[in-house]
Amino acid sequence: MRLVILGPSGAGKGTQAKALIEHFNLKHISTGDVLREEVKKDNVLSRAVKRLMDRGDLVPDELMLSVVEGILSEEDNFILDGFPRTFSQTLALDAICNRIAAPIEVAISISCPDDEIIQRITGRTVCPKCTEMFHTVFLPPKKHGICDKCGTELYQRPDDTMETVKRRLQLFHDLTDPIIDFYRRKGILISINGKGDIGEITQQLIKQLEEKFGHGNNS
Ligand code: AMP
Repeated sequence: MRLVILGPSGAGKGTQAKALIEHFNLKHISTGDVLREEVKKDNVLSRAVKRLMDRGDLVPDELMLSVVEGILSEEDNFILDGFPRTFSQTLALDAICNRIAAPIEVAISISCPDDEIIQRITGRTVCPKCTEMFHTVFLPPKKHGICDKCGTELYQRPDDTMETVKRRLQLFHDLTDPIIDFYRRKGILISINGKGDIGEITQQLIKQLEEKFGHGNNS
C-alpha cells in the first residue's frame, strides 16, 4: 500500500498517519522527522537546514528528493507524510515512482480551518526522544512537561510559534491546492475533514482504504 497524506501541520495528519500505520502495518515516512534527525548531527548542512526549518521555510527540493528517493526505493508499504509539499515535488515524486514501477496508490487530503490549526499548534509539545505529541489544553501529559510514554522532558518545536505557524499555513495554501488537484485528476484522492472526533475520522479513512485495497493488513 503506497500512500501519501496531505494537510497542513496541525490538521491531524500525523495522528491519522499513526493510526493507519498500526491498522495496515505501514511504515511512516515523515520528511519533517527525517530532517529533525539530520539536524541533530550538527554539521554545516544540518545547520543550514535547521535555519530554514526554524523560519518555517521549505528545505530545497534537491535535498528532499535525494532523501525521499533513497527511502522509497527500499519501501513498498508506506505512508508518506510531509512530502510532496510543492508541485515540483509532486511531479518529481511521480517520476521516481514511475522509475521504480511503484506508483502512489492513494493520496489522502486532510483539511482543517486555519484558526483551529493555530490553536492546536501553538499549544503543542513534543517528546524529542519518541516523537509522541501532547497539547497543553486538548491532550495534556499526565505529569506537566514530561512524556507519558518514555519520561523525557517535552519541548515546543521552534517552528510551532504563532508567527511561524501563520507563515507555514500561508505557504501550505499557496502550494498545496495544485497538488490536491493533481491527485484528484489521477482519480486517487481521498478528501476528509480533520475537524471532529479523531477516532471517527480514522474509521472513515480505514473504511475507504479497505474498500479500495480489501480488508486486513497489507504487509
Ligand atoms: P513537518 O514536520 O512536516 O511540519 O516539517 C517541518 C519542516 O521541515 C518544514 O517546515 C520544512 O522546513 C521542512 N520540510 C519537511 N518536509 C519538507 C518537504 N517535503 N519539502 C521541503 N521542506 C520540508
